[in-house]
Amino acid sequence: MYNTKAYSAVSETSPLSSTTIKRRNPTEHDVQIEILFCGICHSDLHSVRNEWSEFEPTTYPIVPGHEIVGRVTQVGSAVTKYKPGDLAAVGCLVDSDGTCLNCKAGLENFCPNQILTYNAPDKHLGGVTYGGYSDSIVVDERFVLRVPSNLNLAGVAPLVCAGITTYSPMRHWGITKGKKVGVVGLGGLGHMGVKFAHALGAHVVVFTTSPDKTEDALRLGADQVVVSRNADEMHKHAGSFDFILDTVSAKHDLNAYLNLLRLDGNLTLVGVSPVPLDVAAFSLIVARRNLSGSNIGGIPETQEMLDFCGEHNITADVEVIPIQKVNEAYERLVKSDVKYRFVIDMASLKSE
Ligand code: NAP
Ligand code: ZN
Repeated sequence: MYNTKAYSAVSETSPLSSTTIKRRNPTEHDVQIEILFCGICHSDLHSVRNEWSEFEPTTYPIVPGHEIVGRVTQVGSAVTKYKPGDLAAVGCLVDSDGTCLNCKAGLENFCPNQILTYNAPDKHLGGVTYGGYSDSIVVDERFVLRVPSNLNLAGVAPLVCAGITTYSPMRHWGITKGKKVGVVGLGGLGHMGVKFAHALGAHVVVFTTSPDKTEDALRLGADQVVVSRNADEMHKHAGSFDFILDTVSAKHDLNAYLNLLRLDGNLTLVGVSPVPLDVAAFSLIVARRNLSGSNIGGIPETQEMLDFCGEHNITADVEVIPIQKVNEAYERLVKSDVKYRFVIDMASLKSE
């Protein structure tokens, strides 16, 4: 065991502040990574504030962070894919049973025994796992990802959550040239969704509550932007979408979007509103519409997504902050004031 610096919250009403945590020494299959950048996902905020208490209660203290990129500092004797000095990334998962049907299909993200990067049982040290708002992390090499060398590192960090969470459902539902795709909410996930839908050749429409994001949406790859509070603008798109990706982090009207789907169209929820959303049966039955959900992505597909980003030069648009500004960033996230992902420069933790 060794000590490493981190930022944690001790209760659902406490700000994040400096602390010291313990990490295991690398065992034979482990990779130790010095964390260079860690993205701030809205899930970090939901968890820190225990907003999902009914489904995924938070154990305190919590060290959030599951958009990790860094450099390998040490590897166990059985590690074959990484060596000290390599770039590496870690997303939302650090372990799974490896034996269930989902794991065998490379869908560790649907393993019933998956271990999340933070706020999950830590079978090595006891207590819960601690995430990436920290100096270093130790992870089984099966859950470590290769980082394309041509990409900006701060912009890579969000790919391993915001990136894969939007890439995976678009691949699953066959987004290609000729499809009309909607992306609801232009935040961390939404802006990656726009980039991927555009790269896959779709006609992309962004739905936003923030009119001032219109120009950015077009620059990110949207073909059209709809301010969702404008009922007339919404109505113009009725019954026309093949696929809509909903990334909204709070309660909102799903029926307004379901009604925009064509026959057999699909709306996939990736945003996790802390309160249940109402669905009117008519929104679905009148056009045999489908409502789905999706949870991050498996490890093989996450690597595929990173390689795709390397080939297409795709990274997140980031605002890099020192860790001392993390509580301020959370306040801005609540107000949808993010363009389009906060990423912590972990060098700032060294001065704590
Ligand atoms: P984010 O950066 O805060 O973006 C969310 C966006 O949703 C906002 O920028 C805003 O976009 C829109 N929005 C926020 N409140 C709204 C409201 N009351 N009504 C309508 N629109 C609203 O968050 P994120 O990091 O992208 O995460 C989004 C959600 O996905 C969170 O709930 C997070 O927990 C979840 N998530 C799920 C997975 C998964 O595997 N399924 C993975 C990661 C995150 P506009 O300003 O454009 O309206
Ligand atoms: Zn996330």
